[in-house]
Amino acid sequence: LSAEEQAVLDEIDEKNVDFLRLQFTDILGVVKNVSVPAHQAEKAFTEGIYFDGSSIEGFVRIQESDMRLVPDADTFAVLPWRSGEDGSAAARVVCDIVDTDGEPFAGGPRQVLKSVLEKADDMGYTVSVGPEPEFFLFKTDEEGNATTTPHDKGGYFDMAPKDLASDVRKEIIFTLEEMGFEIEASHHEVAEGQHEINFKYDDALTTADNIATFRTVVRAVAAQHDLHATFMPKPIAEINGSGMHSHISLFDEDGNNAFADDDDEFNLSETAYQFMGGILNHAPAFTAVTNPTVNSYKRLVPGYEAPIYVAWSDTNRSALVRVPDAAGVSARFEVRSPDPSCNPYLAMASLIAAGLHGIETDADPGDPVREDIYEFDDEKREEYGIETLPPNLGSAVDALEADEVVSEALGPHTSEKFVEAKSQEFSEYLTQVSEWEEDRYLETF
Ligand code: GLN
Ligand code: MG
Ligand code: MG
Ligand code: MG
Repeated sequence: LSAEEQAVLDEIDEKNVDFLRLQFTDILGVVKNVSVPAHQAEKAFTEGIYFDGSSIEGFVRIQESDMRLVPDADTFAVLPWRSGEDGSAAARVVCDIVDTDGEPFAGGPRQVLKSVLEKADDMGYTVSVGPEPEFFLFKTDEEGNATTTPHDKGGYFDMAPKDLASDVRKEIIFTLEEMGFEIEASHHEVAEGQHEINFKYDDALTTADNIATFRTVVRAVAAQHDLHATFMPKPIAEINGSGMHSHISLFDEDGNNAFADDDDEFNLSETAYQFMGGILNHAPAFTAVTNPTVNSYKRLVPGYEAPIYVAWSDTNRSALVRVPDAAGVSARFEVRSPDPSCNPYLAMASLIAAGLHGIETDADPGDPVREDIYEFDDEKREEYGIETLPPNLGSAVDALEADEVVSEALGPHTSEKFVEAKSQEFSEYLTQVSEWEEDRYLETF
């Protein structure tokens, strides 16, 4: 056992942990876990815990289903809301997946991200990502089912008592802090019942783990208040949806921010612009990954602070990439399209691969667009050479399939499974008849 693994075993003893949840995510980003009695922890570290990979979305076929979960000791955390009255506790640890031969399973989303980060490392960079996940708190009905009735009537940055949820939010934050999160800020978002909690940027792998954990914690704490927390991107039509803006920067081998250049108008380096150019070039392709549901595309429409146009800006929030007013260690940009229904590992992997490719090919993001692009007509957009993001999941999947850089970053296994699952999801959607159609046509024709 490594020193870290031994420290986990000690902590399990000390804190009276009786159950250990082995956490991983499937290809769709759904957090899964296998629970084992804590005395299995040592075996988990040394041998891994067998599970049936064939029952997990996007993993493997029946005949090769013996996979093992191997915990990453760095990610061990006691679950504050699962501590029993008898002083016992439950904990979780994020796992890597290895196949029957003990090799890292290439189709595991965490492994996909690790491979992209290895490439970044070969190029001399570590990647930092700071996410801004938004979510809604909805009331539940008598049976405990989720409704779409917002829990409060607050708006942007409102304070209690209008912001009823500030107590729930506070509890979410305390719980996350107990699990080792460093919370930077939290506020009521624009829509009724909508919130945002920002945690400190970290290396991309830790951030992806954190996003998975974050969603679990938010849901668990909300449930204790008889509320349903949802990361569905656009739960209510014609009201702001939930995004997960992702702030990105690269650090070089000396620990300096490779995106920083104080002499530049926007404090960004050549490397930063190249990376941004890569993001803009591959944006249509990674959208299927960063915005992976049918519903994601109901958010990416004009007028709700979500991007549709492939452009960058230092001021305007209608652009895909925004450069905040920051310099030095904080120099960075924000990609505004991702939404919190994404698989965080795959989303980070595709964003980063797109950016690294930009560095390799000296990609040029062009000039910033300072006007509100929502107001542009087609002609003006053409004149500025501004493309749009795919309008729906079907087009997004087509764009992903056509792009070698993003497909290669996902690897053959994951890109095939992902495209298959998402094409099926979109076809199924196309056969549905919506309430909107009923309202519009039933009595007209
Ligand atoms: N909710 C908006 C979105 O969909 C973002 C709002 C904001 O953070 N300014 O991206
Ligand atoms: Mg924000
Ligand atoms: Mg926000
Ligand atoms: Mg933001």
